[in-house]
Amino acid sequence: MRLVLLGPPGAGKGTQATRIVDRFSIPQLSTGDMLREAVAEGTEQGLRVKHIMDRGELVPDDVVVSVVAGRIDHSDAANGFILDGFPRTVVQAEALDQELAARGIKLDAVLELEVDEDALLDRIRGRAEEAASRGEPVRPDDNPEVFETRLHVYREQTAPVTEYYRSKGLLNIVDGLQPIVVVTEQLAAALAALPSLQIRSEIQ
Ligand code: AMP
Repeated sequence: MRLVLLGPPGAGKGTQATRIVDRFSIPQLSTGDMLREAVAEGTEQGLRVKHIMDRGELVPDDVVVSVVAGRIDHSDAANGFILDGFPRTVVQAEALDQELAARGIKLDAVLELEVDEDALLDRIRGRAEEAASRGEPVRPDDNPEVFETRLHVYREQTAPVTEYYRSKGLLNIVDGLQPIVVVTEQLAAALAALPSLQIRSEIQ
């Protein structure tokens, strides 16, 4: 099962992706995590993208496309994956289609978490406060100023990706403001309804 999980920053994509991973035994491919790893390791690519990420802007399309293309060839992704945080532009969505077509595979579905912007700002404040209270480092891009930039970037560059997938008949939208378990249930129901996938059991 090959999935894309869309939604604005702070919508709960990471949380829901983890829950889908547990149920379907497919890896979560998070471009944000992969890029943060490159930054932490101090690789050449990490050094190149760190300042872009810290500002809440998008890393160039060719960089993320090559990261994802390399990752989907790993053996753990042979039976499927859930892409979290990718694609974030229509150019990336088109490049993904080409990469998949070159491998003779295609997406089964796109899941989108819909959340309004005020709720997102509250969530991002909460996320930063919780990390700080646990003594964990706060993501440099999880502060209200950078978050505004990330939302702006989402509106301008990522929102059109929704239309791209809607036009292909792949889009399933779920209200991301509901409790975590309810969101997961609705995502699972959307997957169960896919004609190509007869998934019978429920996500725990
Ligand atoms: P995330 O953890 O998904 O919120 O991503 C954190 C940051 O990594 C983003 O604000 C971007 O700077 C960068 N990033 C992650 N995924 C992408 C992508 N698909 N395209 C461009 N930049 C990305």
